[in-house]
Amino acid sequence: MPDVLRTLLLNPPSFENFDGGASSRWPATREIESYWYPVWLAYPAGMIPGSRLLDASPHKVDWKQTIEICKDYEFLVLFTSTVGFDSDIKLLRKIKEANPSLKVAFVGPQGHIKPNETLQASEDIDFVTHGELDHAVTEYAHGKPLSEIKGVSYRKDGEIVHTMHREQMHTAELDALPFATDTYKRDLQIERYNVPFLLHPFVSFYTTRGCPAMCTFCMWPQTISGHAWRTRSVDNVVQEVKNTLEHFPQMKEIFFDDDTFNIRKDRAIELSKKFKPLKFQWSCTARCHSKYEELKEMADGGARLFIVGFESGDPQILKNIKKGATVEMAREFMKNTKKVGIKVHGDFIIGLPGETKETIQKTIDFAKELDCETIQVSLAHAMPGTELHTTMSEQGFLRVEALADSSGHQLPHIEYPHLSKTEMMTGVNRFYDEYYFRPKVVWRIVKEALWDDYERKRLYHEATAFLKLRAERWKWARSGGDAGKTMVSVPAPPAASGSD
Ligand code: SF4
Repeated sequence: MPDVLRTLLLNPPSFENFDGGASSRWPATREIESYWYPVWLAYPAGMIPGSRLLDASPHKVDWKQTIEICKDYEFLVLFTSTVGFDSDIKLLRKIKEANPSLKVAFVGPQGHIKPNETLQASEDIDFVTHGELDHAVTEYAHGKPLSEIKGVSYRKDGEIVHTMHREQMHTAELDALPFATDTYKRDLQIERYNVPFLLHPFVSFYTTRGCPAMCTFCMWPQTISGHAWRTRSVDNVVQEVKNTLEHFPQMKEIFFDDDTFNIRKDRAIELSKKFKPLKFQWSCTARCHSKYEELKEMADGGARLFIVGFESGDPQILKNIKKGATVEMAREFMKNTKKVGIKVHGDFIIGLPGETKETIQKTIDFAKELDCETIQVSLAHAMPGTELHTTMSEQGFLRVEALADSSGHQLPHIEYPHLSKTEMMTGVNRFYDEYYFRPKVVWRIVKEALWDDYERKRLYHEATAFLKLRAERWKWARSGGDAGKTMVSVPAPPAASGSD
């Protein structure tokens, strides 16, 4: 056996424009083509000499090309998602037909939550990881036997074996990891990553892992990142920022893609002060608890935009989902972000416990009152491994249908006696219509793109995609919600065997 296995870290091809892989918190095909960086895979890729990180969808690498590429490797680390799992299994069968000796690890929340079911789904998978995967797959690539690797499950003599728990990494260990952005420089084209509300091109990475908040629907802290908020040191983050600015002079902004960036005021301020002399724009995830002084320091340090999960305008729903934030906090936060000049992309969810037709309208009105720069409206998805999944299943509100249609677009899979899945779906469209079809919002968006050729084209492309999906949603609702129906047609995934 060579010293280090030739390793491919793969965010697999999936539905067209599907962003469900190695860093997506809401695995789905979006209204508008969007891709997040496969951050989780970037760290082991930086620790395994001779490896390659392949992010198939944004780089337009299809099934056939992926199978060809896999022929050159001895070890495959595939980041799977609940929504993409079935197609990942089919793809893997084809990969193994072409390269039977390939060793395979499935990583991500799916194997963490259901190690037995994941391994039983395919003999082609050698092991799955629990929690943070960085060192488990690195140790395997360096030849360590599975029995000595913490945090993995594998088959032995027909039985499934789980090794010892792997402790989460804290500051010193996080600082010792390679920079994700060095892997991006080696393996990815940053121009391939587009998120409508971020400047293009952007680069993203984590400055922390985990989130102490207890939101019942949120997958990462309840699966692989955990509730302990673990920070990289300020100096280590600043060093990676400098590195990124050198690597990617064409980059327009850095996005700090932590579960939540602004948990601690003193750290947010210290980072902002050190960012200031570097003169770059940045955006980040945020909760709505930061006060004026902190926001002002962040704005002075280059903060341009926050992504904030407001979720609902109904106080009882916020309690039901253990959001730990109130509508009053959201109002105060928005007032202050506007004062300091930081834009906000607000996330809202339809179908959370307690939702009614009236609360949907209340949330639409609340969103209009907050008047964020842009919004995202999602259907409540109870992902396996979350408290929401447990309670919805116990209360009999989970539908058996798929989480997504055959293109990866979200479908309602929670239904209440008083609120049907079609009412939720039409609620999403009504939300977007009422929010965006207001003259001041249309002008706000159009004026940003007026004088920039690239931004004008991007806006046209995004508006067309948005309107197409909007029309499909109305059609789906009119048909009474046929979950098996494809809302937007895409090429089919490969069959489990035989020709494509
Ligand atoms: S604050 Fe955000 S990241 Fe943290 S648990 Fe809630 S939704 Fe998840």
